[in-house]
Amino acid sequence: MFFVEETVRYRYRLRPGATAVAALMAEWGRCRWLWNEAVHQQRSGNKPTFAKLCKLLTDARFSNAWLREGSSTPQQQILRTYGLALTQSFRVKGRGRPSLKKRSKALPTLDYTTRGFSIKDGRLRLAGDVLIPVVWSRDLPSEPSSVRVFQDSLGHWYASFVVRRKQAAPPAASASIGVDWGVTATATTTDPGYDLPHYGYRRRCAAELAKAQRKMARRKPQRGHASSKGYLRAKRQAAELHKKAARQNQHTARLWAKRVVDSHAVIAVEDFKPTFLARSTMARNAADAAIGAAKRELIERGTRAGREVVLVPPAYTTMTCSGCGARAKSRIKLRVRTFICTSCGLALGRDLNAARVILAMAERDRAGADGVRHLDAPPLGACPDAA
Ligand SMILES: [Zn+2]
Repeated sequence: MFFVEETVRYRYRLRPGATAVAALMAEWGRCRWLWNEAVHQQRSGNKPTFAKLCKLLTDARFSNAWLREGSSTPQQQILRTYGLALTQSFRVKGRGRPSLKKRSKALPTLDYTTRGFSIKDGRLRLAGDVLIPVVWSRDLPSEPSSVRVFQDSLGHWYASFVVRRKQAAPPAASASIGVDWGVTATATTTDPGYDLPHYGYRRRCAAELAKAQRKMARRKPQRGHASSKGYLRAKRQAAELHKKAARQNQHTARLWAKRVVDSHAVIAVEDFKPTFLARSTMARNAADAAIGAAKRELIERGTRAGREVVLVPPAYTTMTCSGCGARAKSRIKLRVRTFICTSCGLALGRDLNAARVILAMAERDRAGADGVRHLDAPPLGACPDAA
């Protein structure tokens, strides 16, 4: 058996006491201020590079005692994160410039390099002598090189360690697979045994969720007034239900992605982008969430295993015939579940046809590609449009 060494994150639940929480929140306040300062620098045209921001940090720490009270490690790290976010906003299409982190909205995230943390007597020790008990749900595979301490929307604290681990290499595979996303089945694939049904985790708690949301609407604070306890309680209930469904989605997606990646060398995925429009239905939102989780896990696992992952734009995939390549003249309505080709007479399940088209497009130009590839051009049928 072959082994590969890979860099991964291991996440553990933290149980900080009141003192530790106060220290973490104070540190987050300082880091948030630095981030917002960097945003102001950028907005006023100062082009804040990481080097410039480090200089700014040194000066600010020299003249502000309250900033010096905190550790320089997370403060430097948040500026590094800012620098990265700014660079990527120029390079990655559709990514906006980093924006201000509001106290009421942004959740605390603190990054520590080896200089700023250690593990002592089974507890996480952060710079400034902050000791936090960790729930060691599994062993760390190696000495961590950095840690991110963060809080989620439910107020739970976590530590995410960056570690190296040795893992059995995925089995050799030569098969290809095409994946089409959908509402009725989360994933329809060209390989029969690999379809992922839509389990509807969110639907199961939909009634409870609707109840919590109605409660929230009733107790909604007026503009400029503080939220009532009842409102906050309802908000938390809704958040818990969301989180539960998200975890279930992620778990199923992981098991499914592992199965797909283990037995396929080429994975062609519809590059689906959920919209989460306010006007879209709850069922649509739930399906989008399930698709999002499955797509994320598949791409992550596929690239980590060294498989060829190709992202195919969804344009025309449902209108094109997988048999002869002819494209239908008009969009096929969503309720029509069978694709019938007007030129060759092929009749096939709508999603299966799309999955085959996606795979065919990925196979057509796959020379010399590695990692995730994005196909740009919309597909053109091999034959002229069907008459
Ligand atoms: Zn056809």
